[in-house]
Amino acid sequence: MTPELAILWELHALDERLVALHDALAKFPAERAALGARVAGERNRLEAHARQLHDLQLRRRQREKDVTALQAEEQRFAKQQGLVKTNAEFQALTHEIDGARARRSDAETEVLVMMDEEQALETARPKLDQALREAEAEVGAKIAAIEAEEKRANDESAALEAQRARLAPQLPPGTRSRYERVRDSRGGRGVVAIAKGACGACYRGLAPQGLQEARKRDHVLICDGCGRMLVYPPDGE
Ligand SMILES: [Zn+2]
Repeated sequence: MTPELAILWELHALDERLVALHDALAKFPAERAALGARVAGERNRLEAHARQLHDLQLRRRQREKDVTALQAEEQRFAKQQGLVKTNAEFQALTHEIDGARARRSDAETEVLVMMDEEQALETARPKLDQALREAEAEVGAKIAAIEAEEKRANDESAALEAQRARLAPQLPPGTRSRYERVRDSRGGRGVVAIAKGACGACYRGLAPQGLQEARKRDHVLICDGCGRMLVYPPDGE
C-alpha cells in the first residue's frame, strides 16, 4: 500500500468513527426532549389534580353557605308563623318551611358527597407526588448519563479531529482537497472501503478490471456511483 493510500485508510477509520459519534450525538436532543416531556406529564397530572381539589373545595364551601342561608330562611319563616292570624297564612309558611328544609337537606347531602370526593382526591395525592418524584429522579439519572455520554463523544470527536488535522496535510494537495470536498458533501465519508467488490458506501460494483487495480493498492480509485475515494482494505484478500 502506498503512503498516500495508507493515510487515506487511516483517515477512513477516523471518519467512520466520527460519523458514528456524530449520529450518536444527534439522537440526544430527542432523547432529552422525551425525558423532559415525561416529567412535564407527571407535573401536569399533579397540577390538574390540585386544581380539581381546589375547585371542589370552592363548590363545597359555597354549598355550606347555602345550608346556612337556608337554615336562616327556615328560622325566619318559623318566626313569622308565630305572628300570622289565619290558618291559610300558617299553612303557606309551613309549605315554605318544608321547601327550605328540603333544599337544605339536598345541599347537605351534596356537601357530604363533595367531602367524600375531596377525601378521595387527597388520598390519591401522595401517589401522584411519588410518581413525580420517581420520574424526576429517573429522568435526572438518565439526563446525567446522556451528559456523560455526550461529553465522552465530544471529547473523542475532538481527539479524532486533532488526528485528522495532523494526517490530512500529509496527503498530496490534490488528493487532500478531493478528500475534504467529498467528505464535506457526502456526510463525512470521503474515503470508503471496497467490500465485496463494491463501494462500501453506495454499493456500486466495480468492474473486474477496476477491482484488479484496486487490489494492487498503488493508486487512489474513485467510485463511479458516489465520487468517494475507494481503498482496498489492507486485510482484504
Ligand atoms: Zn460509491
